[in-house]
Amino acid sequence: MFNIIFGSALLKWLERLADSDEQSNQTTLPYQAPPEIAQSYNPNQIDLSCYDIAPPKEIVEYFYPRLQRQAMGCQFEIFLAGIGRDQMIFAGEEALEEITRLDAQLSHYRDESDITRLNLHACEQWVRLEPQLYHLIKDCLRISSETEGAFDITAGPLVKIWGFYRGEGRIPTIDEICNTLAKVGFYRIMTDDEDQLIYFATEGMEISLGAVGKGYALDRAATILKMYGAENAVIHGGQSSIYAMGAPPDKMAWELIIKDPRDHETPIEVVYLKDEALSTSGNYEQYFEMNGKRYSHIIDPLTGQPTQGMISVSVIAPTGAESDALSTAFFVLGRERTEEICHTRPDLRVIMLEEDGSDSILVSRFGFNN
Ligand code: AMP
Ligand code: MG
Repeated sequence: MFNIIFGSALLKWLERLADSDEQSNQTTLPYQAPPEIAQSYNPNQIDLSCYDIAPPKEIVEYFYPRLQRQAMGCQFEIFLAGIGRDQMIFAGEEALEEITRLDAQLSHYRDESDITRLNLHACEQWVRLEPQLYHLIKDCLRISSETEGAFDITAGPLVKIWGFYRGEGRIPTIDEICNTLAKVGFYRIMTDDEDQLIYFATEGMEISLGAVGKGYALDRAATILKMYGAENAVIHGGQSSIYAMGAPPDKMAWELIIKDPRDHETPIEVVYLKDEALSTSGNYEQYFEMNGKRYSHIIDPLTGQPTQGMISVSVIAPTGAESDALSTAFFVLGRERTEEICHTRPDLRVIMLEEDGSDSILVSRFGFNN
């Protein structure tokens, strides 16, 4: 979980911005956003503690609208920066609409979603998917094979037997784990590129996109923002996935401070993002404790057991879908294998926090120059 902190300098600067806004002679476009969705950033309300925007000099012609929407079980927010306030708000609203649409399409909890339809029928017959969803699933299969199955969209039945779907953690029996493993495996998904069809080779299989959906939604939202002319924005879904588009005025990139999830006062790393995404998987997001042991919601699809010893993995990647999927995969794969993969992927940066058996934590960085 990240938090954004805005400095007091930014507060003063935003007050100046608000003053100057009243006298501004900006061209107003016909679209008027409802006041409740079109706030400016309010430093006192923002809770993404890793995120510290240094105010750009004395520039007052820029606007900083902030929009929010509840979707995919979390709050999505868009922080925009640029000129043409109403146009940016319009673009932001359209991007949020796209996220709402994706929520309805991708959720395995919703009776009407494409994923539910797929899970109901793909064991009996080939199911045709809308092209973008088909390509998302193909991307997921590619990431699964690149991570030796550590990320696997068929892992849902395992997540279920550990009680995470119902929010009540439980330890399944060995038999339950073995029986469930027989229904898990990305290689059991058959695909037909020509007609965008999917078939499940094993009875009882299902897919869920919980480990990639938010990041994917950010990519799609960013595309909509660009389509409507918004160039500089930060979008996040529940703070665990962030996409940084362009840069704030007068800056080269958006600056984020990754903090120790157990102590938000302690910075771990400052990262700069431009047209890149950052996602974090953490053992503190969903877990239960039994006999002094923590069982987290990220399951190794090969063993059927929750991953042990990892606190969080943050991945910076070119797209939200990839950063989201890879943060889950690296959480399962662990330090050594993640480092090896990073050697082959110069476009990735990874920060891994592990328990070291004492009160302190082990921090590893891969893909950073220093
Ligand atoms: P994230 O927070 O993005 O790492 O996603 C974690 C969620 O993805 C969990 O709450 C599960 O619903 C699901 N999940 C758990 N383990 C895996 C896995 N190995 N591969 C894919 N999805 C998983
Ligand atoms: Mg993920």
